[in-house]
Amino acid sequence: MSTSRIIAIDGPAGAGKTTIARALAQRLGLQYLDTGAMYRAVTVAALRRGVATTDVDAVGLLAQNLSIDVSDAGVYTDGDDVTVAIRSAEVNAAVSAVAANSAVRQVLRSRQRAWGDERGCGVIEGRDIGSVVFPDAILKVYLTASPRVRAERRVAQAGGDVDEIEAAIALRDGSDSSRVDSPLVQADGSVMVDTTGLGIDEVLKRIEGFLEQR
Ligand code: C5P
Repeated sequence: MSTSRIIAIDGPAGAGKTTIARALAQRLGLQYLDTGAMYRAVTVAALRRGVATTDVDAVGLLAQNLSIDVSDAGVYTDGDDVTVAIRSAEVNAAVSAVAANSAVRQVLRSRQRAWGDERGCGVIEGRDIGSVVFPDAILKVYLTASPRVRAERRVAQAGGDVDEIEAAIALRDGSDSSRVDSPLVQADGSVMVDTTGLGIDEVLKRIEGFLEQR
């Protein structure tokens, strides 16, 4: 089935992808997939099973055999509810290594494509959705914001020290942008929306404006 009715939302951590992708999906009556939750779910499974997240072969095998269910009801791996666990600081620190693993990416990419192909439409957020997973998406949005604003948003959501969080986000951005397999890039043909200083409604209005032009 054609995947052209997919809306891809990519960008660095804290750019507002989850808030915007969810709200957009709701407004358009589409389903929504958070692909970061899938990489996080593999990371939780590795940490819980004592598999070193840097052990490329073992983590690749783990991903291949792990059932991952990401939906509005929560995130489940092999039936375990990991909705809260995937957001821990430990997972934040380890997820980039798991996401740089090509075997993991291959498994998750094919599940993400299957999700889109089964529905034929939907809003999918991540780092490589417009560049690699659905390059023929009807609309590709690259959301960004200044590093300080991104850190402040994370503090507002989950607390913590803004300087420390800004430094941790910068580290994760660095790994996500410099990895060999599917690095975080602004996809060809995508529109950039800098959400610094913009409210949710304004961002949605801009994206809906781009959609109307398609
Ligand atoms: O979006 P979120 O912050 O939950 O993503 C967690 C991590 O998963 C990112 O830092 C990135 O390393 C990885 N990721 C990815 N490709 C995606 C989605 C997420 O590499 N499509």
